[in-house]
Amino acid sequence: MTIPDPSVRNADIAEADRTHVFHSWSAQRSLNPLPIAGGSGVTVWDAEGTEYLDFSSQLVNVNIGHQHPAVVAAIQEQAGILATVAPAHANSTRAEAAKRIVDLAPEGFSKVFFTNGGADANENAIRMARLHTGRDKVLSQYRSYHGNTGVAIVATGDWRRIPNEYARGHVHFFGPYLYRSEFWATTPEEECARALHHLRRVIEAEGPSSIAAILLESVPGTAGVMVPPPGYLAGVRKLADEFGIVLILDEVMSGFGRTGRWFAFEAHGVVPDLITFAKGVNSGYVPIGGVIISDEIAKTFDDRVFPGGLTYSGHPLAAASVVATIDAMREEGIVENARRVGDDVLGPGLRALAEKHPIIGEVRGDGVFWALELVADPVTREPVAPPVIGALKKDLMTRGLLPFTADNRIHVVPPCIITDDDARRGLEILDAALTSVAG
Ligand code: PLP
Repeated sequence: MTIPDPSVRNADIAEADRTHVFHSWSAQRSLNPLPIAGGSGVTVWDAEGTEYLDFSSQLVNVNIGHQHPAVVAAIQEQAGILATVAPAHANSTRAEAAKRIVDLAPEGFSKVFFTNGGADANENAIRMARLHTGRDKVLSQYRSYHGNTGVAIVATGDWRRIPNEYARGHVHFFGPYLYRSEFWATTPEEECARALHHLRRVIEAEGPSSIAAILLESVPGTAGVMVPPPGYLAGVRKLADEFGIVLILDEVMSGFGRTGRWFAFEAHGVVPDLITFAKGVNSGYVPIGGVIISDEIAKTFDDRVFPGGLTYSGHPLAAASVVATIDAMREEGIVENARRVGDDVLGPGLRALAEKHPIIGEVRGDGVFWALELVADPVTREPVAPPVIGALKKDLMTRGLLPFTADNRIHVVPPCIITDDDARRGLEILDAALTSVAG
């Protein structure tokens, strides 16, 4: 464990933070953020050396774990060669990063547009779809998060859209979510068929010739890790084809190993027209995201200007970290590890917790991407009140686990490199905290 300066206490960092740092999505006065001073693998620690098993992967992005030596070295090496370069120039590290990414994509994708993160990846994918189709509207799910820029936040379905609704041309619909079905469904088959029927009706009612894109998270993440029922994504693909609509799959959270696959859509037998990514592509060591563009859409811009760009598009430090991340993930079998730990340890372990703790209404997920939906009453499925989540979070941290919580849920989202032993340790801590808080 490396502590940058042992004379600096947690309280000093918290005080400096509270004085000068303005935080996301929050009223500022009552914030009390955890100071984090360092990390390694699946562990982070504060300035006084208290360690936490990182079951959040920070913002579900540190797929390769903290301080992977090959990725850190690649960033350091690139900094010594060329620390920045304008997007209009060609650069071998950037080209290598793009090649690594398209090599992972399905056939028929050969180009990447790099952005600074996930929101602007969706922003630019939507722009491409609008220019490609000559249409305006974008359909996305109420239960979704697509990022915090002008268009991406309005494509988002959750509460964060409502105070920011200044972009036009966005329509929302309900996706499949059997546990709280909008369609009175009782089986995954019913939920799938009815959710597809609902989407068809929305398309017809909006006017198919006005719809540029359907934008979906392959697995809605922040909204609750809702793995779509078999056939849903394929059904959406069919609707998009029938009506000439571009299908954008947002793989910002679900991509690069999180579900135990390079892309979550691989499990659903579909190929989108545009794929957006960020987070796991380099585990966020340097900010980067992008759009993987199908050849058909890329062709639209062969002789026509794409009216979009960013000073740091394909930044060399980020590009170097992408190359090193993908190489290390391949060499070390990190995606396969996520799949195996999900199948062998986390999935069975979380389901066993649900048997034991009636507060767990449902366990959902795949790979290292899971949610525990907590309920006050397993029959009515009434969500637990916010203080219960607050108490659980506190208890988990006291026991040395850093959780990711959202609404009435705990998301179990450790780095893809987690070992069986660490996954079991996390499950034991969850068990103890649930026993202590929920009885
Ligand atoms: N899309 C999804 C599915 C996300 O989960 C996120 C962030 O959590 C974003 C887009 C936005 O990414 P960023 O915060 O890098 O802009």
